[in-house]
Amino acid sequence: DIPTLRQLYKLARLIPAEPTAAKYKHSGSLLDRVSLYQGTITALEVDAIVNAANKSLLGGGGVDGAIHSAAGRKLVEECRTLHGCETGDAKITKGYDLPAKHVIHAVGPVYSSHHTQTCAELLASCYRRSMELAAQNSQRHIAFPSISTGIYGYPVEDATHIALDEVRGFLSSESGSKIDRAIFVVWSDHDKGVYEDLLPLYFPLD
Ligand code: ADP
Repeated sequence: DIPTLRQLYKLARLIPAEPTAAKYKHSGSLLDRVSLYQGTITALEVDAIVNAANKSLLGGGGVDGAIHSAAGRKLVEECRTLHGCETGDAKITKGYDLPAKHVIHAVGPVYSSHHTQTCAELLASCYRRSMELAAQNSQRHIAFPSISTGIYGYPVEDATHIALDEVRGFLSSESGSKIDRAIFVVWSDHDKGVYEDLLPLYFPLD
């Protein structure tokens, strides 16, 4: 069982050094609905894992490659019927050989330092669309990789602020009540440190 933020804060004593830095107050039960997990997203036995896909939806490197190898050929066959996906949007498929029941394929922006605002909006849209799809399809547990921060070059800290803000906003909204748990999945120690630093700003311990 993956610990919730409330449990993580107790274990690691992660409390923001400067509580006034918190962007939000009163996390309440949100602390029981968010987790941080380090490892491969393909191992998670959840309703839906999010894939950091590309527009073709036909597979690629990084987390996309890992998901397609673990899910088997049937995943790419279903993906072929979807005819791609726009940047900032997401599409859902079954999970096939994965322990996860579904895969939500989200297409993040390729980062460009000349278009930071557009990139930020597109990345935020990926998280929002993924959660909308999860809610519409009764997927109560959703796991996210750090979309766009690998091959697509999005600076991890900027991307993490966006991920945390969008997920916090959605979970607190009316449609968000359909989602019981959002799990942020990190691969590297560095990314784990970034999430540990920023999580308390968006989900402060009351
Ligand atoms: P993008 O093309 O959107 O940048 P990448 O797959 O290159 O996607 O990277 C997104 C993030 O996923 C990076 O932080 C990378 O370290 C991480 N990652 C790579 N493999 C896995 C995996 N098996 N499970 C979870 N995260 C992974």
